[in-house]
Amino acid sequence: MPENNPLNERLRALPSVDQMLCLPALASALEQAPRDQVVGAVREALAAARARVLAGEEAAPAADALADEARALLVRFMRPSLRRVVNATGVIIHTNLGRSCLAEPAVRAVEEAARRYSTLEYDTDAMARGSRHSHCEKLLCALTGAEAAIAVNNNAAAVMLVLSEFAAGHEAVVSRGELVEIGGSFRIPDIMALSGAVMVGVGTTNKTHPADYERAISPDTAMLLKVHTSNYRVVGFTETVEASQMRGIADAAVEARRAVDPAAPGIIVYEDLGSGALIRPPALGSQAEPTAGEALAQGCDLVSFSGDKLLGGPQAGIVIGRRALIARLKANPMVRALRLDKMTLAALEATLRLYLEPERALAEIPTLALLSEPAETVRERAERLAGMLAEVAGDAGAVSVVDEASCVGGGTLPLLDIPSSAAALSFRAEDGAQRCEEHLIRRAAVPVVGRIRQGQLLFDARTLADDELPLVAEAVAEALGARGAARGGEVAR
Ligand SMILES: *Cc1c(COP(=O)(O)O)cnc(C)c1O
Repeated sequence: MPENNPLNERLRALPSVDQMLCLPALASALEQAPRDQVVGAVREALAAARARVLAGEEAAPAADALADEARALLVRFMRPSLRRVVNATGVIIHTNLGRSCLAEPAVRAVEEAARRYSTLEYDTDAMARGSRHSHCEKLLCALTGAEAAIAVNNNAAAVMLVLSEFAAGHEAVVSRGELVEIGGSFRIPDIMALSGAVMVGVGTTNKTHPADYERAISPDTAMLLKVHTSNYRVVGFTETVEASQMRGIADAAVEARRAVDPAAPGIIVYEDLGSGALIRPPALGSQAEPTAGEALAQGCDLVSFSGDKLLGGPQAGIVIGRRALIARLKANPMVRALRLDKMTLAALEATLRLYLEPERALAEIPTLALLSEPAETVRERAERLAGMLAEVAGDAGAVSVVDEASCVGGGTLPLLDIPSSAAALSFRAEDGAQRCEEHLIRRAAVPVVGRIRQGQLLFDARTLADDELPLVAEAVAEALGARGAARGGEVAR
């Protein structure tokens, strides 16, 4: 290679790690973060610069610019990855933002379980080893009328567990109108295949009749599966078969089987209920989802649902139903891999306890409280936020309050619009909303997630807490340059 290859020269112009560490931006970082992390960030910035030079970039970047880059990488590495955000989207059960927030008693229970030793698998009455499955079972039975219950990692796990225990190697009949996909990777046909169950689809996308199930039942049918169409609705000419009808169909088929062979196996009716409400929030009126107890009372042997959707608790999957069947689930080796940890169990138990007094549940469980808050209260909050925003925005943006429709989210009640209000920020510059949004999400100390509509940045007040309004206003002030956001930011330890 010739001595004066400009590429070589440009590469050689890049500073060394040691030279970089002497620059003021990084010298001060060394006081705030472990040396290895600072050096790592410098190496990463240098490697990126080298790659850019090799890719044809004209000049090697200046050392100061590289130091800023390294510092930004360091700040990003040192701050917690899983951290709080302000949800100004109006979507109450926002899967990307952590679904349900826990009620205070649940938060306290998590804290205690995390900090101290606990009765996780210890029975103080028996003074002997206990079961982690015992903590929520009685409560779940009391709240749903079930004989028995078990909670596992999430509802996807619950579905998997039920299918593998009762339908692996056998046929499970499900309506083609209920072959849901939830959140991209959970699809009923795939889960059935994974569990070893043989899926028998019946009916069509819009109509399934009782006779479809009757015809589909074979000597090998182990289950009639009903899946709640959580995140979509088929409207128009539709017909679905209720769980109560499925119960009758299953019973008749088993009776016919046993007339021939008294030892013939039964057929389980199982509903994957999805959201799993335990009460009907009055605010939802006739639009409320059927509760888990109601689904069971329709004649299902088993019903499963999520812990962090309408129930408003931690991520969990709950199966309720007949004692003998739940006992088989508890004995399934897969349960060991799907079990809940003590913090989740603590949160779930404390959340369920609130439901013993439905009024308390409605008031104290954030998901239910947010759903139920009157539109006028939400509007007042939006107006207060608009006032704060107008103060910080000055000439940079115009502020108004607009009527909005919140949605429940989390694949729940897709057709339900909950009247809401948002503070709306309009900008003079065409890309003002985008630039402001980018700052609020990427740079704000607590990211604020709103939404852009027709060039306006909207902050839906239904999912905002009163004490979050100043956070939103501060972040907007920074974004608009009113306070000159600190370049590079602080390194949090
Ligand atoms: C949400 C949902 C699931 C998955 O539940 P997770 O708790 O998210 O695992 C399964 N089935 C239905 C019908 C759902 O709505």
